[in-house]
Amino acid sequence: IAEVPSLQSQLTRRHQSISPLLSISYATPLSVTGAAFQYMYDSAGNAILDAYNNIPHVGHSHPIVVEAAQRQMAKLNTNTRYLYDELAEYAEKLLAKFPASLSKVYFVNSGSAASDLAMRMAFAHTKNHNVLVMEHGYHGNTQISIDISDYKFNNKKGFGQKSNILKAPIPDTYLGKHKVNDGTAGKLYAQEAMQIIHDAGKTVGAFITEPIVGCGGQVPLAEGYLKNLYPAIRAQGGICISDEVQTGFGRMGDFFWGYEAQGVVPDMVILGKPMGNGHPMGAVVCTEEIAESFSKGVEFFSSFGGNPVSCAIGIAVLDVIAEESLQENAKEVGNYYLGLFRELKKKHACIGDVRGSGLFIGVEIVKPGTTEPDTALASHIKNEMRNRNILISTDGPHDSVLKTKPPLCFTKENALTVVENIDMILKG
Ligand code: PMP
Repeated sequence: IAEVPSLQSQLTRRHQSISPLLSISYATPLSVTGAAFQYMYDSAGNAILDAYNNIPHVGHSHPIVVEAAQRQMAKLNTNTRYLYDELAEYAEKLLAKFPASLSKVYFVNSGSAASDLAMRMAFAHTKNHNVLVMEHGYHGNTQISIDISDYKFNNKKGFGQKSNILKAPIPDTYLGKHKVNDGTAGKLYAQEAMQIIHDAGKTVGAFITEPIVGCGGQVPLAEGYLKNLYPAIRAQGGICISDEVQTGFGRMGDFFWGYEAQGVVPDMVILGKPMGNGHPMGAVVCTEEIAESFSKGVEFFSSFGGNPVSCAIGIAVLDVIAEESLQENAKEVGNYYLGLFRELKKKHACIGDVRGSGLFIGVEIVKPGTTEPDTALASHIKNEMRNRNILISTDGPHDSVLKTKPPLCFTKENALTVVENIDMILKG
């Protein structure tokens, strides 16, 4: 209660210079003064369990990452037009995480810049501006990124779908029309996507999707979807892009990259968020052939992309993931967490579906006995959790999916705390 005036004065101050378009999470906003690993600290000194933020991938303010940044910042920071070891070292370390066909990397400073660059590279390679995008997909805030993001252009305040954009239905085996997730639904959804291209009387130069559609409500692509769709896209002259901004760097548990779960290798991959553990970094990884086509055009240069400090941070993040076995932790804790949610689903009819992989989980909140989204209840749970000092969020076309994607140092005890508190809230 003592915080209320101070929160209000912070809000007033913020809105004097910052547009309310930059929305604030939670009915009771959170004023934070520090963070460490899976905890944030509010101005009253409370520890807040962060079960939501995936950007601090190896943990908020991880000391090894902080130290790497400080050390490099004191030594050298410049742009990529000079020779320095950190750039080559990071590029090699990052590319070692990909199959041999993905052998070139371009560094930028955000997922949006990576999406934008990926599209420019795709156009340069295929000379075809048509793009097949995923329903409810989100790839960033630049104009080109918005053009390929149904989540934005299809918003009631958005500017609509451009004529070079085609949209594939989300291959969702919970709410969608094909539900048999043994490869059958995936194949049917892939056929439907190709039919959309065919019916438009077009071909596409690129197809882009996330392996689990985050803003669409944490929806994993139906099994076999990409295995059927990628060859068909390539056969008509297009390239296949996986947006791993949310799903990459071991979060999936079983796999380092989300596309691996579908048994495919993309032609291009977009990276962001977890790459720098909070330091603004993004990248496009692609094949030699695409890089070759792109190099025939105007020079590519980013003032900050691939700078020595970012590279030192990127290297530290990869090292910490390996040294602290964080992919393995995502798998073990993620499976336990999913299991707890599945048990919770048996107790509460308002939980319609539990899905995800590793520490990337969605829980669909519905009107009991139906698959109808319950937006109000999802919002109530999210805000009640915040009042209990636990951060989760909601997303999806109806904002009815509880979303949890914590730093990978999350423990089983943390998972239990989240699920027990949702249980208490649902019991009223
Ligand atoms: N792709 C995906 C899948 C994302 O979730 C986001 C950010 N939410 C982006 C791209 C854009 O990244 P950034 O906000 O770093 O520009």
